[in-house]
Amino acid sequence: MENNEDLKYHPHTKYDGSWWENDAQGIPLARVCDKCRAAKLAKFRPEIRSGYNQSDVDEPIEPDEEITAATA
Ligand SMILES: [Zn+2]
Repeated sequence: MENNEDLKYHPHTKYDGSWWENDAQGIPLARVCDKCRAAKLAKFRPEIRSGYNQSDVDEPIEPDEEITAATA
């Protein structure tokens, strides 16, 4: 069984069934497949993919977003 650390570096090439996950501004974050998508996207803040701008960074995020590090 592959662990999350392996999946963070799951390699991909064109036409292997993987795709690029983009942030809300269309900037590619990582190339993923069904297996490694969660592991690779885990390092990104939830709001990076739901849309934000620089002024939003210091404001509370939506309560229905999954909060991982905000309460540290
Ligand atoms: Zn993968």
